[in-house]
Amino acid sequence: MLGAGVCAGLVAGGLSGAGTVAGAAPVPLAPARQAVATGYGGTVASVDPDATQVGLDVLRRGGNAVDAAVATAAALGVTEPYSAGVGGGGFLVSYDARTRRVSTIDGRETAPAALTETGFLDPATGSPRPFADLVNSTLSVGVPGTPATWDAALRRSGTMPLADVLSGARSLAERGFVVDGEFHDQTVANAERFADFSSTADLFLPGGEAPAVGSVFRNPDLARTYGLLAEHGVGALYGGELGRAVVDTVTAPPVAPGVEREVLRGAMTLDDVAAYRAVPRKPTRVRHAGLDVYGMPAPSSGGTTVGEALNILRAKGSGYTGADLEHLRLEAAALAFADRNRYVGDPDVVDVPQRELLSSRFAASRACLVDVASTLPRPLAAGALHTGVSCPAGGPANPTPYEGESTTHLVTADAQGNVVSYTLTIEQTGGSGIVVPGRGFLLNNELTDFNAAPVVAGQPDPNLPGPGKRPRSSMAPTIVLQGSRPLLATGSPGGATIIGTVLGILVNRLDGGMDLPAAIAAPRVSEQNGVRATAEQAYVDSPLGVEMQARGHALTPTDEIGAAVGLEFLADGRIQAVAEPERRGGGAAGVVHPAP
Ligand code: GLU
Repeated sequence: MLGAGVCAGLVAGGLSGAGTVAGAAPVPLAPARQAVATGYGGTVASVDPDATQVGLDVLRRGGNAVDAAVATAAALGVTEPYSAGVGGGGFLVSYDARTRRVSTIDGRETAPAALTETGFLDPATGSPRPFADLVNSTLSVGVPGTPATWDAALRRSGTMPLADVLSGARSLAERGFVVDGEFHDQTVANAERFADFSSTADLFLPGGEAPAVGSVFRNPDLARTYGLLAEHGVGALYGGELGRAVVDTVTAPPVAPGVEREVLRGAMTLDDVAAYRAVPRKPTRVRHAGLDVYGMPAPSSGGTTVGEALNILRAKGSGYTGADLEHLRLEAAALAFADRNRYVGDPDVVDVPQRELLSSRFAASRACLVDVASTLPRPLAAGALHTGVSCPAGGPANPTPYEGESTTHLVTADAQGNVVSYTLTIEQTGGSGIVVPGRGFLLNNELTDFNAAPVVAGQPDPNLPGPGKRPRSSMAPTIVLQGSRPLLATGSPGGATIIGTVLGILVNRLDGGMDLPAAIAAPRVSEQNGVRATAEQAYVDSPLGVEMQARGHALTPTDEIGAAVGLEFLADGRIQAVAEPERRGGGAAGVVHPAP
């Protein structure tokens, strides 16, 4: 633990200034945040300026989009450790300029073999354990999939060895980064549960406090972890000393002295870790606005739910604009959520009718329920499959259970036209709250994405826990092709809100006449087939939001939805990278050769 955490001094001049901490190595600069960057030679957009720089450096060294994506992701593990890292999982969608094909990697965490369907029920009562008890436990820790995702992506289409790709993140962890308001606030929000685990408190609460804004945060333990992966490959985790450390932490979490609450324990074994595989899966594809929209299939519901909603819009016909288009989008999202809640789970364990969910016939049977002049009562029932019946309705409502909202998304492209759209997570902000002692990373609590018990009584639930099973996700990394060439890529964090965020960006950009920066900046609403949708205050107060409420869409205001990034190949040959202008403190877009 020596040298971990925060340097004593603050950076002279705050966030924008350079300086040194007495007796320490030179203090790093905090690179500028930039929401939009346009130019040539490749691009990276992420939520964090240091991570975007690490990805751009890889492109400048001759790496391709896949190399840059893994490098950026590893750097996010340093600067956004509460959202992503070695202890988590994610989904990567990529376009290969040589084959002109889109492919995906499922790096979702898996449940240990010992987790059964009733594993999240309290044996004393037979009822689901309180969600908070699962969140702050190792019972909800899945076998991490992120290093396997990096390895699979690099083997399939990278050009650099893992060790080279990790070098930027490794030195970032060593030399540190300048703490911003977001990192500080996330630490404060998690301080109480972080304090319950000595390894977490040592790293993230040095001296018992959250790192101050403007101080430099170093994580030499994580630098060593990246060193191990660089030296031994991902076998260091899936069968090596890192795997043993993960298993030891899950089975005997480092509960701080004096903590009285019971910390539920998972039963992960070395065999569980060694059995982990990142799985290549066929992407989802739907036609929209004359383009092909590719997304992530099950166990993520991102691709099928965004895709079904777009299909419903298509079935309603083009020509809708403004409030009519917005109303149809919300209705389509509610229907698609009802279907995802009923039908989508781990496709290796349950039968997921993805073809049917994305078929024009199914979309037509859902679209005919939608009227531009009225609003369907929520929550809606799932559609019947394979009926061939026009406009079936009825059955029990399929509302959306709660999902945590942390995570981070990045996009990269290179000069050859390869593209990556990658969402990675440790589930909640701060994951399980448990740092693997001496390794510098938090363990996920992704298994809380399972439904502890069937959400709708008497109806089969595709997302119950199970041995080796992957919990359903909402992550929606997306790539849109025009013909066989990429047009744009996007994605967002935000749990179940991700789907509405990505759908909104696509509809704003492809149907609503906005450019990508405007589509990403636009106020957001999240329709999940609940009695009320959540919406940013700016949306609630906007003319569009007011009109939606007048049409019967009940809105509950919330602070902020998502933190998206995207990129677009412009008609003049330049690439445009786009990050949030405001949300999560603003993201960082960069290009290799700027040409504004
Ligand atoms: N666990 C969530 C999912 O897989 C992601 C969490 C988030 O996006 O914040 O959908």
